[in-house]
Amino acid sequence: MISAVEALKRLQEGNQRFVADVLGRSTPASESRRIELVAGQEPFAIILGCSDSRVPAEIVFDQHLGDLFVIRVAGNIVAPSQVGSVEFAADRYATRLVVVLGHSMCGAVQATLEELERPSENRSPNLRSIVDRIRPSVEGLLETEHRHDSDMLLQRAVRANIRASADHLRHGSQLLEQLIQNDGLIVVGAEYSLETGVVEFFDGLPQQT
Ligand SMILES: [Zn+2]
Repeated sequence: MISAVEALKRLQEGNQRFVADVLGRSTPASESRRIELVAGQEPFAIILGCSDSRVPAEIVFDQHLGDLFVIRVAGNIVAPSQVGSVEFAADRYATRLVVVLGHSMCGAVQATLEELERPSENRSPNLRSIVDRIRPSVEGLLETEHRHDSDMLLQRAVRANIRASADHLRHGSQLLEQLIQNDGLIVVGAEYSLETGVVEFFDGLPQQT
């Protein structure tokens, strides 16, 4: 399995190809590759991303079958099943890079800000469980000067939510903590820009990069 730093480089290069609209591999899902993967997978990165239809990890990183182990949930939140999914892949496939991939103008983060400003009583409890996961990392922003600027507030909230999810993965699992300490696992936070297509890695980067 490749190292976290090498995996990060692959994702950065893939995103550059996506942004440049130059596909690195012209056969997106060849039959031979599909058949090869029946015997087993070795995804080189684990991505915890938002469910937003505009941010599919394989596409924005220009990767293909068998490359990425992807978990998607609205607001890229971390609940026990997301931690378990990351643990599963890190343990079983020895994948050493975990990326929390949020994005600009995230609807789940926006919904959380709206809820904080105007609490609604009849929200579905399932939807509420997502808002409640995002809330702790963003509510402090409503006490800063950013509360007067809704665009800035959302930008800050998106980043705070990504940082919180990455932090939760780093510290909310004994298994992942051990892999981080002893086996070179790293968890980084990144934001995809809907406007430019660029993924900016901004949290938890190793010093070599
Ligand atoms: Zn989103």
